[in-house]
Amino acid sequence: MKRVIPLVLLSALAACSSNSTPLKAVKQPVANGPKNIIMVIGDGMGPAYTTAYRLFKDDPSTATIESTVFDDILVGRSSTAPAQISGYVTDSAASATALASGHKSYNGAIGVDTNKMPVQSVLEYAKSIGKATGLVVTSQINHATPASYAAHVEQRNQYDDIADQYFDRKINDSHVVDVMLGGGWKYFIRPDRDLTKEFQKDGYQYINDYAQLNSINSDQVLGLFADKGLPWALDDKQPHRLKKMTMAAVDRLDNNEQGFFMLVEGSQIDWAGHSNDIAAAMAEMDDLAHTLQWLKSYVVNHPDTLVIVTADHSTGGFTIAANGEYKWTPDVLSNLKNSPQAIAKQQKKHGFDHKKISELLGLNLTKQESDTLEQAHADGKKSLHSALKKLLDTRSNTGWTTGGHTGVDVPVFSFGSGSEKFSGQQDNTDIAKRIFALLGK
Ligand code: MG
Ligand code: ZN
Repeated sequence: MKRVIPLVLLSALAACSSNSTPLKAVKQPVANGPKNIIMVIGDGMGPAYTTAYRLFKDDPSTATIESTVFDDILVGRSSTAPAQISGYVTDSAASATALASGHKSYNGAIGVDTNKMPVQSVLEYAKSIGKATGLVVTSQINHATPASYAAHVEQRNQYDDIADQYFDRKINDSHVVDVMLGGGWKYFIRPDRDLTKEFQKDGYQYINDYAQLNSINSDQVLGLFADKGLPWALDDKQPHRLKKMTMAAVDRLDNNEQGFFMLVEGSQIDWAGHSNDIAAAMAEMDDLAHTLQWLKSYVVNHPDTLVIVTADHSTGGFTIAANGEYKWTPDVLSNLKNSPQAIAKQQKKHGFDHKKISELLGLNLTKQESDTLEQAHADGKKSLHSALKKLLDTRSNTGWTTGGHTGVDVPVFSFGSGSEKFSGQQDNTDIAKRIFALLGK
């Protein structure tokens, strides 16, 4: 039986951790601290992913391997282990809680410590000193990573409770997050509550189509674009949806004179890792890379902004080369028109079609490959999905060791005002502590 943390306790957290002055008259951030802080998390983006992305994007017509945006902004490395009670390998909830609050907790914890007591996040503190706040993700907006910045529950699967807290909890008489963009109709529009309506009553604009990102006219906005997570980048009509949402969010948040704190998450790098889907992983990385490229241009024009980028852990035990062979050939991943999952679904609906599969994969299949896929198709949809991923692994010589997470350290990237604070070896809790310090706490 899960216990919901009483709202009164959560209000106490908000009240005692901030002064109780109204939002407009607030204490100033530290003199030299950045005005705006953008925390970017590539969920599951261990070091193999950023290396693989560089090779995936390499121009083979040149002898050098071209650098990527990640190479330009690397500053350090972070350890990720959760609280001792959960061993050495973290989940996204414990790691996001550490990155958000500076407290290590157990796997599954959302914004609570090992005693299940709420711990304040950097986003909540930023809100309490008058900054605008944002969450921009490609998962459902109440998934573990964003939830750890703006909610407090004992278990990550309390999705409805997390969505409720986004509305019910207040800091300085204001909802905790001003701009929320991602997926999650299933949790916000329910038989017992329609949070989209409740937010609109409180002055939020509600949008549910990417096209509306261009016509946001309120500084408080809830944008939900899918039932749960957004479609894979490979399947989405907007393959760079994280970039598009980030641009729209920043456009509203930087209207606030006292600056903003925003969390941006490339959520589905992790989902591709869990699924051992190298094609989906590279497409999700590409969306994140385009987002970072845009953020770099934003910081050139807004040098009082800090951007920190890291991962919460690595996923899948992804390796660049497998089976004793010194070879990785990601060029075979460059022409997919859909994800392996969507291709399998399409074939289930329309019947096995060798030509169509070749076209959607952007590959010329051998007779043997085609026969293997046809056999898998006869065994059912799941089986074709697995066979398609296996084919791409074999073609690219990609390796995986697990369908779960691994305990390797993750890269840390940073640029803009205060970025030097995140260099070298650090723990995920240090990242939160340094952000609190920059915010003047
Ligand atoms: Mg090259
Ligand atoms: Zn995961």
